[in-house]
Amino acid sequence: LETLCGWINEKKDIGGIVFLTVVPDNGIKPIVAVCKKGRNPEVWKVAKKLKIGSAVRIDGQYAETQISKKGLEFIPCKIVVVSEMSEEKIPIDFSGKTPFLLDTKLDYRYLTLRLPRERAIFIIRSEILKLAREWFYKNGFIEVHTPKLCGAGAEGGATVFELNYFEKKAYLAQSPQLYKQMLMSGLEKVFEITPYFRAEKFSTTRHLNESWGIDMEVGFIDNEEDIMRLLEDLIVHLVEGLAERCSKELKILNVKLKAPEKPFPRIKYDEVLEILRRRGVEIEWGEDLGDREEKILGEEMTKSGIDFYFITKYPWKVKPFYIMRENYLSRSFDLDCKGLELASGGQREHRINELVNNMLEKGLNPKDFEFYLEAFRYAMPPHGGYGLGVERLMMKLLNLENIREAILFPRDRWRLVP
Ligand code: ATP
Ligand code: MG
Repeated sequence: LETLCGWINEKKDIGGIVFLTVVPDNGIKPIVAVCKKGRNPEVWKVAKKLKIGSAVRIDGQYAETQISKKGLEFIPCKIVVVSEMSEEKIPIDFSGKTPFLLDTKLDYRYLTLRLPRERAIFIIRSEILKLAREWFYKNGFIEVHTPKLCGAGAEGGATVFELNYFEKKAYLAQSPQLYKQMLMSGLEKVFEITPYFRAEKFSTTRHLNESWGIDMEVGFIDNEEDIMRLLEDLIVHLVEGLAERCSKELKILNVKLKAPEKPFPRIKYDEVLEILRRRGVEIEWGEDLGDREEKILGEEMTKSGIDFYFITKYPWKVKPFYIMRENYLSRSFDLDCKGLELASGGQREHRINELVNNMLEKGLNPKDFEFYLEAFRYAMPPHGGYGLGVERLMMKLLNLENIREAILFPRDRWRLVP
């Protein structure tokens, strides 16, 4: 005898038989409880009265012959309603006949988690983070947590949320950048899985005001190539791990994952401009690549069967002050997938004089960063790292059109509740 707990998603009453569709709490595969009057009048009576949406516990066993296409057929011998709705009707149509709007889905996220597809997305999210942690531990990293309440904005930009901190102003961390670098003066390999807060008035399908990043930083490196190797290795580990552990979830989402080959192509910024030019798009040397440019490059890569690729050797002008400079270029890279930036990283400037110069050139006041600069006065080793966006990665791996689908309760300009 098996016991299943879950909610009634669908109910079909054809007189002598009632069919109940339930996604059990421990899975994503729906079961169809077949309640026949002739077989068990008590169960049938309970089933007949059940409201769609109710939480139930069902004892019974799987049918010997499986006919239903909707899910696994289950023969109940007892149905207990463990919780009734206080509302008359559930606001989501679980039958899938009327597709719901993204807004409805986000307003009732907890209810849509009763659906296999939505649940699969978040089981996969959890597995991605687990796989990432496994990879970092296996490779000798330690997990750290840097403050989210900060006295200075990460890059000194205007994109930070400000809040009252007793008699002072504080800011929500827009990335762990400065703190993870400071740790390089005491640790060799760190990673952090953390929210980022950015106050831009985004209205795109790829930006959130609260997003999650997988960040890492490594000391005693030779150059940014060391970091790219570590990042591509993590990506392959994640893709292979998901394909192996989440096959059921991926199938529901209609996704086939194939691990990309290492090394991922490295395309220099200059080459990107050349590729764009061939497609009739001119951008001036030194300009950052925008959404349009990233997409065109992505299309060109897809033509060669490549999903993941690095863009390297960016002009120093478009990169932040902490990136190591090489004349007019920088030791930075982006990891893109099918036309979307997933990560940014590079080698950092560890020499304090150069670092201060970089700040000045970017129009920042080194005095505002004294707490950070102090860490560079005691033999800071050469170091580098990256920040990888969790929701962006999920978008590309799972073909999600809107980043809001990849996070339980998205925060954007219009959405602060639920
Ligand atoms: P973009 O140019 O695409 O807005 P960014 O270069 O400002 O991104 P970084 O500061 O490089 O972002 O942050 C590292 C990674 O974190 C990004 O590559 C991206 O995957 C993710 N990320 C950054 N900002 C956001 C955001 N607002 N919403 C979702 N993910 C983000
Ligand atoms: Mg970036």
